[in-house]
Amino acid sequence: MAVILEARGLGKTYTTGPEPVVALRDVDLTVEEGTLTVVKGRSGSGKTTLLNLLGGLDEPTTGTVLVEGVDIHELSANELAEMRRKTIGFVFQTFGLLPILTAAENVEVPMRLARIDHEARRSRATALLEHVGLGGRARHRPHELSGGEQQRVAIARALANQPKLLLADEPTGQLDSRTGRTIIELILRVVREEGVAAIVATHDPTPMALADQVVELSDGRAIVDA
Ligand code: ADP
Ligand code: MG
Repeated sequence: MAVILEARGLGKTYTTGPEPVVALRDVDLTVEEGTLTVVKGRSGSGKTTLLNLLGGLDEPTTGTVLVEGVDIHELSANELAEMRRKTIGFVFQTFGLLPILTAAENVEVPMRLARIDHEARRSRATALLEHVGLGGRARHRPHELSGGEQQRVAIARALANQPKLLLADEPTGQLDSRTGRTIIELILRVVREEGVAAIVATHDPTPMALADQVVELSDGRAIVDA
């Protein structure tokens, strides 16, 4: 299968505070299309740092990230923004929906940024919400939805521009375990049916058995299990 993402020797030291913090050390990772990679580890082990580097949201101190063979940290700011918009979907623990927009309008945001026309946006948002089991909630605003429903909207939004890579940072962290499981199952369905590569950071044990690859972080170092 095609390799979507390759990280080599990835390291991050934060130098913002009075003492430098080594958050990630020498991490190697290869991710193929249509696979689920779970990143686990205690709070503070470097999961968010790793996902942010893989998604081009932050700059590594050492190492490289290749997305479809392109070194993303060699790109200009505009090229990187375009690559993120086209190739990567992000899902966060706190959903990150815009409160004044409806579910459908939230899903349309990335399509607006990609300058997809109004009609195509509407119909794709409707299809995506149906896909995540929220066909009847298109006109609801986030506060009218449960946490699990809001996360489904966030997943639909992340899929809006048909990304090859889905990065989810503790997507079940604010959900009860049963709702969390349905979110993981939804991500897995997207992986299996659409060939998207998903990288999910979590300390929820549910996805471990379903994962194609588990990366355990401990103090910023990775242990990769087959
Ligand atoms: P996790 O997501 O596994 O909880 P993080 O990647 O958020 O771990 O954090 C890893 C380490 O890096 C922690 O020690 C944390 O305090 C530190 N850290 C994270 N972000 C920053 C930052 N912006 N500035 C300084 N230190 C940070
Ligand atoms: Mg984190």
